Amino acid sequence: MKRRNKSHIEILQNVFLFILGGIIWINLSNRLLFKYLTDITKYKQIQIYKDVVYVLLVGLVVYLITRKKRHKLESMLDVNKHKEMEEKIYALAYYNVLTGMPNRSKFEQKVNEKIREYKGTEEKFAIIYMNIDNLRRINDTWGYEVGDMLLKYIAGIMNKYSNEIYLCAHLGGDDFAIVIDNIQDRNEVLRRTKDLMDEFKIPWEFKKHKIFITFSAGIVLYPEHGESLYSLVVNADTAMWHVKKHGKDGSCFYNADMQTKRAEYIQTAHQIRKGLKNEEFVVYYQPQINLTTGEIAGMEALIRWKHPEQGCIPPNDFIPLAEATGEIHAIGRFVLETVCKQKKEWELQGYPEVIVSVNISGISLTRGDLADEIEELLETYEVDGSGIRIEITETSVMTDMDMAVKTLRKIRSLGVKVALDDFGTGYSSLTYLRRLPLDVVKIDRTFINNIKNVDEEEIIVEVVVQIARSLNLEVVAEGVETQEQLSYVVESECELAQGYYFSKPIAPDQIEEILDADFRYAI
Ligand code: C2E
Ligand code: CA
Ligand code: CA
Repeated sequence: MKRRNKSHIEILQNVFLFILGGIIWINLSNRLLFKYLTDITKYKQIQIYKDVVYVLLVGLVVYLITRKKRHKLESMLDVNKHKEMEEKIYALAYYNVLTGMPNRSKFEQKVNEKIREYKGTEEKFAIIYMNIDNLRRINDTWGYEVGDMLLKYIAGIMNKYSNEIYLCAHLGGDDFAIVIDNIQDRNEVLRRTKDLMDEFKIPWEFKKHKIFITFSAGIVLYPEHGESLYSLVVNADTAMWHVKKHGKDGSCFYNADMQTKRAEYIQTAHQIRKGLKNEEFVVYYQPQINLTTGEIAGMEALIRWKHPEQGCIPPNDFIPLAEATGEIHAIGRFVLETVCKQKKEWELQGYPEVIVSVNISGISLTRGDLADEIEELLETYEVDGSGIRIEITETSVMTDMDMAVKTLRKIRSLGVKVALDDFGTGYSSLTYLRRLPLDVVKIDRTFINNIKNVDEEEIIVEVVVQIARSLNLEVVAEGVETQEQLSYVVESECELAQGYYFSKPIAPDQIEEILDADFRYAI
């Protein structure tokens, strides 16, 4: 509008100049001619030329002015176009295409700006690295389009929140980052993080489905946790990783221990993969004794890692790490396959049939394809399902009870039996005993170890045996080390027992010796 007014005034100015120029020209030229020419016919002739000269001059001036204007207009258009392009390039470079939020480059630029601003002052700012816990699952279940819709929904909430803080950025995929400046103390950051996370407590509704969104968030403070963009980002990511490994859906500040732990995890994961390839893992077997006959009724397969430098590493030192890194699936498959192979070999060599129990990690149990994996291995090695038993723990079914029940039913349909391990240490809930499709309960060794000292422990064992009986479950007493403990579990009417009193976990060739001798333990 302004520009239009301006050009209008310019036109009027020009018209005015032409009129003024014309009047001056007519006036001056007439006066001069009149003064120097006396011949009236000559005067009239020149008058015509004079007008022609004037018209030509005006034409020239008009030409010059419009040419100048065109140049100006063209360069103006050019500048506008340039600006538009520049804006487009800037948006592509600094904003996420899907959500329109500032992207990683913008985030890095802004953090660097803050670092420059706060350097040498007392001021602090916080970076909160947030990862959506279940985007991958949503993508797998509903497809990427739904995942994109969810990201846009999250961006909407974040954008609202961004008015109150320095920056909300979408770093890509399921990663977001928040920068809060002028921080007074840690509590303020925690409170603000919680405020934001609370915004997501209401589930996102999609086609009548309620989808819960949770985040794992790692927090760092400048300058306490890093003085450069790189160190702040790496440490925030490590803190976020720590939250992921401890149940997700939460937030925590970074500390140096986390870094060491993470490095250890990565190193161990790598070593486990290498160890599986180099056949450093072996399976030992611990006999389970029938308390009526003294015969070996079964055995528990227990993994051992014969590390070339560190010697024999017990499972408790690497199974939790393997669970955290995902290597547990390869380990689980290795044990199942080794047991199936071993069972076939013993069968072909004519050894008596014994049930072998295999420990299954909760992570494998709730993954969904465990039953198929077991079926495939039973078929490959031509082993009967009834010769295998799996051991699960209460904690392992906690994360996804429905999935666990479904998988266990499928596994049992293959003839494979299911035992609940370490009973008494976890939730020891009767609900689990009733809801889970089980065949056996294993009483944890802490109860067996303590029976000499604590009267209550004795009662617990007896109660468990009674409950198990009413639910048609067999009972195995774990960790029997002494004659006294053995007498007690026999009296309590446990069917089976396992422990150092009979045998430690031993290598397959030692098991063969016992089986060869048709050995019976004195009960
Ligand atoms: P768990 O399933 O409760 O296995 C029994 C553990 O108790 C074994 O330890 C065994 O050696 C030990 N034990 C047996 N009898 C006695 C006894 O009389 N006294 C004492 N003090 N201990 C006894 P191990 O082999 O070190 O295994 C520890 C844990 O590691 C197992 O506990 C199990 O949770 C896990 N684990 C072992 N092998 C595997 C495997 O192949 N897969 C999975 N997912 N976990 C495994
Ligand atoms: Ca076990
Ligand atoms: Ca156990």
